[in-house]
Amino acid sequence: MPQITAAVPRATYGYLARGIKDVVKIPVIASHRINDPKVAREMIADGLCDMVAMGRSLIVDPYLPQKAKEQKEHEIIHCIACAQGCFDNLFKLKHVECLCNPRVGHEKKRAIIKSNKIKKVMVIGGGAAGMISAITLADRGHRVLLYEKCSKLGGQLYIAAAPPGREEFRVFADDLVAQVNLRNSNIDIYTNTNVDIDLIKRENPDHIIIATGSSPVLPPIPGIDKSYIEQVYLPDNNNICHLTMVEFSRVVNAWDVLQNRVYTGEHVVVIGGGAVGVETAMFLAQKGTLSAEALKFLFVNRAERPEILYEMATKGTKKITIVEMMNKVGQEFGKSTRWVMLQDMERLGISVKLKSRVVEITQDGIVVETPDGVEEIMADSIVIATGSASNNALVPEIDKLNIPFDVIGDAKSVGMAFDAVHQGFLAALNI
Ligand code: SF4
Repeated sequence: MPQITAAVPRATYGYLARGIKDVVKIPVIASHRINDPKVAREMIADGLCDMVAMGRSLIVDPYLPQKAKEQKEHEIIHCIACAQGCFDNLFKLKHVECLCNPRVGHEKKRAIIKSNKIKKVMVIGGGAAGMISAITLADRGHRVLLYEKCSKLGGQLYIAAAPPGREEFRVFADDLVAQVNLRNSNIDIYTNTNVDIDLIKRENPDHIIIATGSSPVLPPIPGIDKSYIEQVYLPDNNNICHLTMVEFSRVVNAWDVLQNRVYTGEHVVVIGGGAVGVETAMFLAQKGTLSAEALKFLFVNRAERPEILYEMATKGTKKITIVEMMNKVGQEFGKSTRWVMLQDMERLGISVKLKSRVVEITQDGIVVETPDGVEEIMADSIVIATGSASNNALVPEIDKLNIPFDVIGDAKSVGMAFDAVHQGFLAALNI
């Protein structure tokens, strides 16, 4: 039973505190996944407990109680229950760190000290790494110009937040945006802006931080770029359907799937069993399952037997197969979360082909080489989750300008959000 992962909804275990409170006459303290004062207040007001305990929430933001007391709750950085810096580190016998707060565990060495020379710094990229850099630079007194090519700050955090149980990553994006906005006297934000070398020359900054992230790459699999002609019924302007020839590709990339930008059919093969592949598979496997609200409604009205409701909550409408070349999936997941992920995959009925290589994408699916021989898997959609490559095209041009620069996060080397945040912070600390 997961207790600490992000898949556990906030305040879930309040019912246990309530059970104890019903039979004792002393104060009862609730705990686990309470990461916001509003949640805590509700639990106490609803009579589930008398007090709450916060652990990781105070690791991320030791000022949480003070901010709550001073009615500055919009300034809180929430624990996103990723376990990447705290529990995962403990399992490796390392000291506690934190994805969302790069100072944790390094408080003295990573103290934020005002710079004695104020610099104008261009931060290119408004994802986690870029925002942490901008916030830290502003706190050190520098003047920051923060550029983002999309219409809002947040970058890949929104993709990380898409799979089921990962919604707290969106909260981290929102918290960072709030922190950037709090420093608006030091940070100028430019969204919808593509930075090119002319813009850099015009601004002539003292330092540049390149945090341009990464983009998915297509592996060189025969047939990956082929499209097919199929007859489908499409409506005309008068809403009358006609049999029409349509050109389509079965191949989509995982990031587009996670952002609901593309259609996938009933039978789906996900190529790549890393974190993105597994999370995309789980995202698709949940399609057609009962929502939490529907489940509660049907349950309290005794519409179906509990075992039928369980089936409906765990079995979606798609058949998913992950094909992975290595001997296990989800290698990047830490010890605290990997077992939960494996348990969810089994429950959702996701099939896995390990030590297997896709040799061709055909009109009907894929041809795959497995330890038991070559086989064909029928698929309506093939999702590519074989990794991404750094967006660092600007680096060689900036290199010629004689302006000091740092490349951080995925733009330097594709990694985890933890690495991006820590690199962003450290780059800003050293300017
Ligand atoms: S590493 Fe993740 S789970 Fe641990 S305290 Fe930080 S945000 Fe919370």
